[in-house]
Amino acid sequence: KLSKRLQAIADYVSPGSRVADIGSDHALLPVYLIQSGRVPTAIAGELNPGPYEAARRQTADAGLTTKLQVRRGDGLSVLEPGEADTVTIAGMGGSLMSSILEEGYLAGKLNGVKELVLQPNVGEEFVRSWLLKRGWFLAEETILEEDDKIYEVLHAFKYEEDEAKKRNEGVYEASFLTLPTYKDKGAAILEKMGPHLLRAPQEVFFKKWKLELEKMSRIVTQMSQSDQAEQKKQQFRDEMNVIEEVLQCLQ
Ligand code: SAM
Repeated sequence: KLSKRLQAIADYVSPGSRVADIGSDHALLPVYLIQSGRVPTAIAGELNPGPYEAARRQTADAGLTTKLQVRRGDGLSVLEPGEADTVTIAGMGGSLMSSILEEGYLAGKLNGVKELVLQPNVGEEFVRSWLLKRGWFLAEETILEEDDKIYEVLHAFKYEEDEAKKRNEGVYEASFLTLPTYKDKGAAILEKMGPHLLRAPQEVFFKKWKLELEKMSRIVTQMSQSDQAEQKKQQFRDEMNVIEEVLQCLQ
């Protein structure tokens, strides 16, 4: 049985698509996707030798060597254009994830890819802003808690640039309905907190941001007293104020 986190990712993958799971580690996700009949074939990409070997072993043990190709390499470099309909990337920071996507995009590796399912561990805003910049429509998002950790999963589809923009703007408009005072301040807050998550905030969403605020406040208390630190502290405080205001708006 898959973890709740990997199941949420699997549930977003369109049935029948050819999947590439980048940073696959033990290849649990692609093995599950094939075994459950959701997808016919998959590619598992891994940069590091340990996880690469683990993915190969897992694939062999599951008897899936003809359907699941395990490839070693950095990010999307393991893909040939047109090989995958869906790319999944999970369990890494949003900043690394968006640089993998950008490098892949620049190398043409995303040509033909129609769907992305992304689960950044932190820094979700980097991923959302990359999607926006490169013509992806963020169609849905989910937030869940498992083993005392909170995860977000993002589901995006490729469109012509104008069409993606129009669709994203539609979602942003709808989110701003819950946050009328933020409309003039731009999209940054939506990229940080998630336009879909903000529109229908759940218990776990409030929990995540309460914990984030606590973490930020701990960081501020631990910072030194130099002038430079003072500037940084003020940035943190401003950010915390915005998050607090947003949470109040939503409650
Ligand atoms: N995707 C799995 C999951 O969500 O359970 C595994 C997540 S694991 C924490 C992150 C994996 O990404 C590691 O196995 C690591 O080796 C791999 N990785 C890190 N940077 C990578 C890159 N640039 N290209 C491919 N894989 C990478």
